[in-house]
Amino acid sequence: MKRTAVVIGGGLAGLAAATELTTQFRSAGSGESIGEVILIEKNQHLGGKMNVFSEQQYHFDMGPTIITMPEIVRGIIRRSGRRVEDYLELVRLDPQWRCFFEDGVVLDLRDDPAVFAAELDRQFPSAKPGQGYLEFLHYARRMYRLSEKVFFYKDLGGILDMMRKPPKDAGVLGDALRMRMYSTVAGTAHRSITEPHLRQLSEHFLQYVGSSPFLSPAILSLIAAAQGDYGCWYTMGGTRMVARSLERIFVEQGGRVERGVGVRRILVDAGRVTGVELQDGRSISADIVISNCDVQRTYTDLIGTPAAKSAQRAIAAKYEPACSGVVLYLGLNRRYEHLRHNCFLFSKDSNAEFDDIYKRGEPARDPTLYLCVPSATDPSQAPAGCESLYILVHTPYLRAHHDWDAPNGLFDKYRRTILDKLKRFGMEDIEQHIVVERRLTPAGIDRMYNATGGAIYGLASHGKLHGGFKPRNTSSVAKGLYLAGGSANPGPGTPMVMMSGVTAAWSACEGLGIEPDRSATSVGQGATVGKIMATTSLLTGELLDRSEEQQGSESRGEQSCSQIAMTR
Ligand SMILES: Cc1cc2nc3c(=O)[nH]c(=O)nc-3n(C[C@H](O)[C@H](O)[C@H](O)COP(=O)(O)OP(=O)(O)OC[C@H]3O[C@@H](n4cnc5c(N)ncnc54)[C@H](O)[C@@H]3O)c2cc1C
Repeated sequence: MKRTAVVIGGGLAGLAAATELTTQFRSAGSGESIGEVILIEKNQHLGGKMNVFSEQQYHFDMGPTIITMPEIVRGIIRRSGRRVEDYLELVRLDPQWRCFFEDGVVLDLRDDPAVFAAELDRQFPSAKPGQGYLEFLHYARRMYRLSEKVFFYKDLGGILDMMRKPPKDAGVLGDALRMRMYSTVAGTAHRSITEPHLRQLSEHFLQYVGSSPFLSPAILSLIAAAQGDYGCWYTMGGTRMVARSLERIFVEQGGRVERGVGVRRILVDAGRVTGVELQDGRSISADIVISNCDVQRTYTDLIGTPAAKSAQRAIAAKYEPACSGVVLYLGLNRRYEHLRHNCFLFSKDSNAEFDDIYKRGEPARDPTLYLCVPSATDPSQAPAGCESLYILVHTPYLRAHHDWDAPNGLFDKYRRTILDKLKRFGMEDIEQHIVVERRLTPAGIDRMYNATGGAIYGLASHGKLHGGFKPRNTSSVAKGLYLAGGSANPGPGTPMVMMSGVTAAWSACEGLGIEPDRSATSVGQGATVGKIMATTSLLTGELLDRSEEQQGSESRGEQSCSQIAMTR
């Protein structure tokens, strides 16, 4: 009998889940699909936050601009039996980031960590911070290796799930013992890195998951290794090409897309999902449902049973939304040659900045700006000699008194702060060169993508014990219900949400009695990790591990539906 799977939401996680299901259904039927997969997206475009808009030949990726851990999307494409190069042209960026500081210092985070360390030593000859950076990276690699063995592509919801299948490999056990569960990412980075500019740079890896490095568990230092060893990538034509590739494969494999119509309810009978009801009144029967809608909204808005509401309350008690953000998209009729593809214009005081966003819940008085300058790599994104400049500022998730969109509201005030900062950093004449201007605000993110609190990255990763975990992909609320996306395991950011979609699809296959093909899942080419780790161990002489024993504890220390949410 043919199975029917419904995926609610065509964000990156939903697309990954739906595409993977079509692959697995075909592989289970030896080329002939054993079921139908229907992807239902309330917006007209697929990709969710990986959205795009174009005006007057200026093209903007509206959401994610940096791709890390590209092996995850490559794995989805390869398992479908296709060649990655037929779908994506991935470019590895060097420098990964150019970082500007208020005191005039400029740091290029180079693609090769050894080159970066050597450049740091030349730039700060008295502090010689290169070795400290490599020490931090060495620790990050251990956390990456640990995660690859026990966490990636596993349907886990917490440390207890992880302990059920403890790692047997001696190296991995050693890594587990060094998780520094009493510490945070910032606490761990600061042990090895004392040079203040480099400290601030190292704290910003956590911005990929919209969380404070001062509140997130040390294991998430792995993000530094994910970028340090496996690169910071751009896909020619815009990062949107990742979503488009998945959409293409999904359709090529016979998947059905329903766009412009939301799911109103997930139908549950006797504790088991039976299908979905759409906002236009239609019902679709299904054996399994994967929800890429925010997990808490899935439970309250789409199910609403006492069990679902209680599951939502348990999540809300444990987690808060990750940060939100404002984006200013500026089409400029000139370019600024001192910028690189990815730039940060840092705040003066990162402690104060993270406190504002993550503790006080107010926009940072002195924010860090992230700039994406795509023409640096891809001239097709703006007219010749011009730039599609993207400026992202992280903000707190929405509070009741935050009115971003009112005339003279929070956004209008912040726009001035942003432009003044751009002017201080070598773009004095920017206001005279703006040809196209749009914005995205936290309220727009909430409305457009149905994201609780306008959170860009689902649930925050705060909390030393549970911060590294998110709700499991297999829901306990109804049989046949699975969860995928930034608010589900393993968490937010483009690589992780695609992994979330794949993991949810595999769990769903198991629920249907199909053993999934789990090939092509090496996230970081394990052999390479081993080699890099050995080299760094020699370099650092395992300094980090020894000082850890001595130390004990430390500081506690193309126009789309996007128009709805965007205003000129
Ligand atoms: C401005 C910005 C910049 C970012 N930069 C980066 C970056 O550089 N690198 C990085 O790794 N990450 C970045 N991120 C984060 C990254 O975009 C997200 O982690 C990821 O795209 C989230 O994917 P998702 O599938 O979980 O959710 P979403 O993209 O939010 O997808 C959820 C989808 O479900 C749909 N939906 C919801 N409810 C329903 C319903 N009831 N019926 C039908 N459909 C529904 C929504 O419309 C949406 O399309 C950024 C995000 C933003 C907004």
